Amino acid sequence: MRVLLVEDEKALAETIRRGLTNEGFVVDVAHDGVTGQWMATENPYDVIVLDIMLPRRNGYEVLRNLRQLKVWAPAMMLTAKDGEYDQTDAFELGADDYLTKPFSFVVLVARLRALVRRGAPPRPVDLAVGGLKLDPNRRTVSRNGHPISLTAKEFSVLQFLMRHPEVVLSKAEILDNVWDQAFDGSENIVEVYVGYLRRKIDVAFGVTSLVTVRGMGYRLMAVDGGEPTQE
Ligand code: CA
Repeated sequence: MRVLLVEDEKALAETIRRGLTNEGFVVDVAHDGVTGQWMATENPYDVIVLDIMLPRRNGYEVLRNLRQLKVWAPAMMLTAKDGEYDQTDAFELGADDYLTKPFSFVVLVARLRALVRRGAPPRPVDLAVGGLKLDPNRRTVSRNGHPISLTAKEFSVLQFLMRHPEVVLSKAEILDNVWDQAFDGSENIVEVYVGYLRRKIDVAFGVTSLVTVRGMGYRLMAVDGGEPTQE
């Protein structure tokens, strides 16, 4: 099992490195975020132990960059109790597990083994409907290779439509799946966002893929091609 340990406190890093080596892990160590990120992209690791407060680039940025680069090795974040971040942040920002410093070495080993056993969790897959592509991890959208800039809500609506291509989806279905429970506005909000989307994914390319089915809802059709039209 190959572990990358990114920890700037050199004495602590050395203690962990020695301990993990004795437990049969192969351990590489980086002492700053930039080096850690580079090593994680250059080598296949079974698990990454990532301190948060690091010189040059903090652990969260490193993790976010790695996921964007499609490096999916499970990550164990090391958080400090009185630090700028807490464990809730660790999960929100994509860590697979966390330990609060100071931690027991036995616990670290047990949790690392559990993470390695579990392996990289399944990640959302890229979606494609005709020439329209959506990458849920990078949160990017393009048509025919041309990037499209969407707001967070437009992205969510499109993602839902792209999961059900060629199918008629009612406003109520879109509303239930994209807006949270607390939303008590009218279904017309869906119409508004479909309008925004249509301008960006269709009109801007001179194609028609997002079709209104009168009285029923919307259908996203697979349309190839499309070039950006002049405004
Ligand atoms: Ca640190």
